[in-house]
Amino acid sequence: MLYNTEAIVVRSIAYGESDAIVTLLTPGGLVAVMARGAKKPQSRLAAGVQLCVQGTFTLYRRSGMGTLSQVEMVNSRRGLREDLQRAAYAAYFCELVAAISEEAPNGSEVVYRLFAGALDRLEMQESPPPVTARIWETKILRLVGASPDWTTCVHCHREGLENAAYSPREGGFVCELCASKYAGNRDPGQSMWVTPSSVPKILKSFEIVPWNRLGSVRLSQATLEAIKRILEVQLRDFAGLWPRSRSFLDSIDEVYPDTQE
Ligand SMILES: [Zn+2]
Repeated sequence: MLYNTEAIVVRSIAYGESDAIVTLLTPGGLVAVMARGAKKPQSRLAAGVQLCVQGTFTLYRRSGMGTLSQVEMVNSRRGLREDLQRAAYAAYFCELVAAISEEAPNGSEVVYRLFAGALDRLEMQESPPPVTARIWETKILRLVGASPDWTTCVHCHREGLENAAYSPREGGFVCELCASKYAGNRDPGQSMWVTPSSVPKILKSFEIVPWNRLGSVRLSQATLEAIKRILEVQLRDFAGLWPRSRSFLDSIDEVYPDTQE
């Protein structure tokens, strides 16, 4: 059976000498297909199986893994392959979305649209790539239900936090009053991270504001570092997400320091 589906390439692995196994994220979820001959440079499939390509994919399926017969590119996302930094971030974005997505047909169109928005933003460089990555992580955490209500104290549920501290053990912010109660506690597991006061509100807006309404986001280095550290804990300890490509990103950022503003 031949059928067409809209999709984005989220993984492409060489198989044998000339084939590739390609994982597509479709609006209905993940689909793995064999792309025969795609690793040969003259193959008509070669361009269409590159990471982050978005288009209409024609698949043939009888039983088992389907095969890819044609790709009509809608967005090649060439900009994501033009420099090492954006390529590394794009690979990370793909790994994250593949980790939280279900196999088709149990996937979610919401995930698909948010992912396409993340790639758009990374490619157009409306914000430095590390900022776009933090926004994407915040949205991923919400999708998997691993983010707290960022602007509410995890202890007393007070809203509108001022001078809050982040508790890595509890995965959320603690208000000034509650944090002072724990100030004398010497248990290292109870340690709190003092962060710039704007951080809870920024995380909340990253989580809920749609990509196209976020505008150009610029953060101070201190704020960006605090957000990065908090999201690392939420991703690793509360969502169980730590893609292999992640550790590579930190070394990449050192090569591109001017993009972290
Ligand atoms: Zn409190």
